[in-house]
Amino acid sequence: MAVHACDHIGYCPLTADATGYSPEFARNLRTVWCRGEFTACARYHAARLLGSENVPIDLFPVDRERVSRLLAN
Ligand code: SF4
Repeated sequence: MAVHACDHIGYCPLTADATGYSPEFARNLRTVWCRGEFTACARYHAARLLGSENVPIDLFPVDRERVSRLLAN
């Protein structure tokens, strides 16, 4: 059976227990993005293009435009 989950789970800060967001919000984020549409996640793309150490802590999965701006700088 194919695994359909982001391989950044475990070191991406948004998958840590202490994200600073509500438990419900964090759980929903992980369900929708990390174990769902991770290939569309801005953090996923930023890590691949910029290196995980250069992904802003506050970059949200929906913010693909911000990734474009980061690449342009
Ligand atoms: S937030 Fe994005 S990059 Fe981080 S683990 Fe989830 S899908 Fe992967």
